[in-house]
Amino acid sequence: MELKFDSVTKRYRQKLALDSFSVTLTEGVHALLGPNGAGKSTLMNILAGLLAQTSGSISLDGRDIIAMGADYRAMLGFMPQEPGFYKSFSAFETLDYYAVLRDVKDRRERIDEMLCLVNLQEDAKRRVGSFSGGMKRRLGIALALLNDPKILILDEPTAGLDPKERIRFRNLISQIGLGKTVILATHIVSDIESISDSVLLLKDGRLIGRDTADGLCRQLEGMVWDIPMSAQEAERYIAENRCANIVKHGGEVFVHTLSQVRPAEKALLAKPCLEDVYMHSFGDSSEARDAAG
Ligand code: ADP
Repeated sequence: MELKFDSVTKRYRQKLALDSFSVTLTEGVHALLGPNGAGKSTLMNILAGLLAQTSGSISLDGRDIIAMGADYRAMLGFMPQEPGFYKSFSAFETLDYYAVLRDVKDRRERIDEMLCLVNLQEDAKRRVGSFSGGMKRRLGIALALLNDPKILILDEPTAGLDPKERIRFRNLISQIGLGKTVILATHIVSDIESISDSVLLLKDGRLIGRDTADGLCRQLEGMVWDIPMSAQEAERYIAENRCANIVKHGGEVFVHTLSQVRPAEKALLAKPCLEDVYMHSFGDSSEARDAAG
C-alpha cells in the first residue's frame, strides 16, 4: 500500500500552515516530528478527511482519497488530539456505540478483542468520566482500531500521560503497527525514538528531512559535544546559547551542545541522539522532552 502526499498545501487566510508537503509512505510507523505550530494537526486533519487542503492531493495506491470517499474512510482509523467521549458511557458502551455507527462486523467479539488489546477489559463497565488520561488514550486507540484500519493516524497520542503510561503506549503502538501505515504526530522525541520506521521532520509547514531515527542521528556525527563545566558555568553557558542543555554523568556536569567545530578545548564528542536532531532542526529541544520525565 502506498500513501502519496503530492504538494499538499494549506493556507488559513494569511497563514501558510502547510507548504507543498510531498512524501510517499508505505507500511510501518512514521513519526511526524515538529514543534507546536509546525502544521502537524493540519496535516493529520487533512489526511483524516476533516479539513480540505488549499491545493495538492493525497492518493492511496494511485486513487485520490477524496474521490475514494467511503472506501477510504473504511480503511482509516483516527485518534485526534482530544478524543471526545460521553462521560456517562462505559468503555464498552463507547465502543459499542461507534461500532454500530461504523457497521463493524461481529461487534461483540471485536470490542472484546480491542478492550483486551488496550488492557481495559477489567474496566469495560466503568464510566469513561472516571478514567485517567492514559485510560482515555487507550480507549481512543481501541476506537481508532475498531474497523481494523489499514491507515492509523495518531495525533499527539501521549499528550498528558505519565512516563509509565507513555511506555505502555509505545509498546502498544509497535504491537499494532505491523501490517498498517501508522502516522504518529508528536513533538516528544522519546515517543518515537525506538518505535518509528521513519521520521519526518516538519518545520513551518515544510518537510525539512526524512530518514530513520538512526539515519537522522548519523547525520550529526562529529557535531555533538559534551563540555565539562561547573554547575555555575553551565548555567551561564545555557543562558547565552539556546542550542544547549545541561547533562549529568556520574555526578559531573556537562553542557551538551551542537557545533560544527570543537566548541571548547576540553569538549568531548558525544553520540548524537534524536533529541539532538530536534535541537538541530528546530533550534530548541526543551519542548521535545517528555514533560513528565
Ligand atoms: P501543530 O499541530 O504542529 O501544533 P497546527 O497544524 O495546529 O500545528 O498549526 C499550524 C499553524 O497553522 C499554526 O501557526 C497555527 O496557529 C495555524 N492554524 C491552525 N489552525 C488554524 C485556523 N483554524 N485558523 C488560522 N490559523 C490556524
